[in-house]
Amino acid sequence: MAESPLSGRHALITGGGTGIGAAAAAHLHAAGAKLSLLGRRMEPLQAVAESYGGIAVGCDVTDAGQIGNAFDEARTLNGPIDLLIVNAGIAESAPFHKMTRESWDTIIATNLTAAFECSRAAIGDLLKSDNGRLVFVASVASLRGVPYAAHYAASKHGLLGLMRSLAAEYAKTSLTVNAVCPGYVDTPMTDQSVARVSQITGRSEGDARAAITGMNASGRLVDPQAIGNVIAMLCLPLSRDINGAAVTIDGGTAA
Ligand code: NDP
Repeated sequence: MAESPLSGRHALITGGGTGIGAAAAAHLHAAGAKLSLLGRRMEPLQAVAESYGGIAVGCDVTDAGQIGNAFDEARTLNGPIDLLIVNAGIAESAPFHKMTRESWDTIIATNLTAAFECSRAAIGDLLKSDNGRLVFVASVASLRGVPYAAHYAASKHGLLGLMRSLAAEYAKTSLTVNAVCPGYVDTPMTDQSVARVSQITGRSEGDARAAITGMNASGRLVDPQAIGNVIAMLCLPLSRDINGAAVTIDGGTAA
């Protein structure tokens, strides 16, 4: 039987316990990778780790000290990091004139500054690895403005700037740096958006879900497994010439 393409490689996934992170774990595991799953809540991390034989490490990615400790723990158990999936993120919404500085800071800290800190914490390993891979989970909100989510869109635009700069800076090495840009995906984050829209507008949850689903050109939510599949594909040795790409997985919304 042919060896799995990511056999023996260590994949660290932030936000690995739920949604897109858990789907990435499934696909990276299927390709043979060893998993380290990071997040704040241990229960979902442990459930994913039990399914795929990975390890669950508690970490709030807005705290650089916790990132350092968690990455060290992951290295101790799984070896140097070959594949880093920067996926942890949060969304909030508010009309711009009501957007608070606190909300702005929280979104930027979680979606952008944490990506910088996680990348810094792993870059030494990634550059030493044969075929190191850094994949950011960005968004269609990285590509265009989003009403009522200026902070989220700004953080996700910033993520693409970071991705493209690192891809250019390390182009002559065996590390590639890419992003996936999903449309609305069927995950807990979208469930929370549905609840928020329903609460703010007074519409039923069904109507709110239909409105959000309708924002994808396909008229359906993206399956998180589809995102996990592309993340794992970007991590393959054969993907070494995909560098600096922002892969939209949105049913045609950004077309
Ligand atoms: P989830 O809410 O399921 O996943 C978000 C994950 O991030 C959770 O596992 C959460 O774990 C983790 N996380 C959040 N804040 C922190 C923190 N401070 N420290 C550590 N971990 C944290 O939703 P998705 O799977 O949809 O989201 C994953 C990524 O996909 C996000 O970056 C999101 O912006 C992006 N995305 C989502 C889209 C969608 O429609 N759902 C569309 C486009 C992009 P815990 O709370 O336990 O810490």
